[in-house]
Amino acid sequence: TQELHIVGGGMAGSEAAWQAASMGVPVVLHEMRPKVGTFAHRTGSFAEMVCSNSFRSDDDERNAVGLLHWEMRQAGGLIMRMATEHQLPAGGALAVDRDAFAEGVTQALRDHPLIRIVDAEITELPQDGAWIFATGPLTSPALAEAIGTVTGAERLAFFDAIAPIVHADSIDMTVAWRQSRYDKGETEEERTAYINCPMDKAQYEAFIAAMLAADKTEFHEGETAGYFDGCLPIEVMAERGPETPRFGPMKPIGLTNPHNPDVKPYAVVQLRRDNKLGTLYNIVGFQTKMKYGAQTEVFRMIPGLQDAAFARLGGIHRNTFLNSPTLLDDRMRLRARPNIRFAGQVTGVEGYVESAAMGLLAGRMAAAELLGRDLPPPPADTAMGALVTHITGGAEAKTFQPMNVNFGLFPPIDAKGGRRGRKDRYKAYTDRAKEAFTAWLAM
Ligand code: FAD
Repeated sequence: TQELHIVGGGMAGSEAAWQAASMGVPVVLHEMRPKVGTFAHRTGSFAEMVCSNSFRSDDDERNAVGLLHWEMRQAGGLIMRMATEHQLPAGGALAVDRDAFAEGVTQALRDHPLIRIVDAEITELPQDGAWIFATGPLTSPALAEAIGTVTGAERLAFFDAIAPIVHADSIDMTVAWRQSRYDKGETEEERTAYINCPMDKAQYEAFIAAMLAADKTEFHEGETAGYFDGCLPIEVMAERGPETPRFGPMKPIGLTNPHNPDVKPYAVVQLRRDNKLGTLYNIVGFQTKMKYGAQTEVFRMIPGLQDAAFARLGGIHRNTFLNSPTLLDDRMRLRARPNIRFAGQVTGVEGYVESAAMGLLAGRMAAAELLGRDLPPPPADTAMGALVTHITGGAEAKTFQPMNVNFGLFPPIDAKGGRRGRKDRYKAYTDRAKEAFTAWLAM
């Protein structure tokens, strides 16, 4: 069988190598560390956890990331096996001993007879051979330049600027309303693409004061070069003057509140649809460096969002990622160069677990192809399938930002039936996913 080349031995590349080799395909794994470093990695080990040591919730019945753990375990995933072996006590979360975990992954890859490891930085997208690029949020500058040349520089971002994302069904529509500014749009769908939350003067002033007072996270050393073009955090805007947001993303013009048509709002917070399913909305212009706890508190001050359930909170990080919805096909191949796949955080997922899961998929799909068969992605009602469907087509390409796994990415359950409690609904999602994933694994 032809060799599969994998670039990057992080969460995604390690898992991709393991999966492909387990299917009998010889793998060459190229990793630049420790020869070439990044500002976040400290070691030369594979699957180094660069920050927290948590794989988040391990609850596979009511939590989307826990479900992803379950799916990866079912698929014989190396990352999950080592995480479980080196687990530390941490309540419902899966926390691990990071050094023992990374050493375990490294040893397993080095010991595998079908995996050959090459200590080298790759700086080109080769024309020949089968390749998976899993070079992560800190893809080396030389390679990033080569990728930008093939994809078009504007389709490769170097920072994420994530505005908080809210589950649509948690927005109070007795306060908020649907309308695009100046009713812009050709179709009814476009004219109602935004959800608007009105504020009076007192609410606005209290909101600005809360943002200014909130705890913020700092950038890591070496992280900031090139930041600030077009992704100013909302609180930095407020620091420039309390009225600045009201003339920026919070401007109230071109909008009429049908709940109270005679009173013009002093400011308006807009949310924009974030996926084709219409289950997720992002708060427009609200990328932020506020700490997670503070964000929840501050953003629930917005009228209509008092009970908001957040699919993900905001952030701004150094993060190299592709505009995958336009660049990748559903087999995670670069449309312009199908001998090249991408996997991991560089495809626009976010987090250790999500990255490893996308490595697992890319490894399996690439190996299947080299073995002469076609493996479709898992169905969209599994956690892995929901994620890959989102990044390769379900997300809005124009505003694409990295995504964590969450139930808002799944085709909604119970569209017709009666309303179930949120917890029962999550259990229904995971039951459905487990059945579908088991069937996919048997393919
Ligand atoms: P990585 O794990 O980064 O692996 C990519 C690998 O590719 C690296 O080993 C790198 O050395 C190698 N590489 C890069 N370029 C080349 C090249 N040209 N040639 C050869 N090899 C190359 N996620 C969380 O879940 N929790 C956190 O707390 C967290 N904190 C983070 C903090 C920081 C500062 C950063 C930058 C990211 C953080 N993340 C966190 C995101 C985390 O990095 C990813 O979720 C995860 O590591 C991504 O996996 P990956 O395999 O895609 O990339």
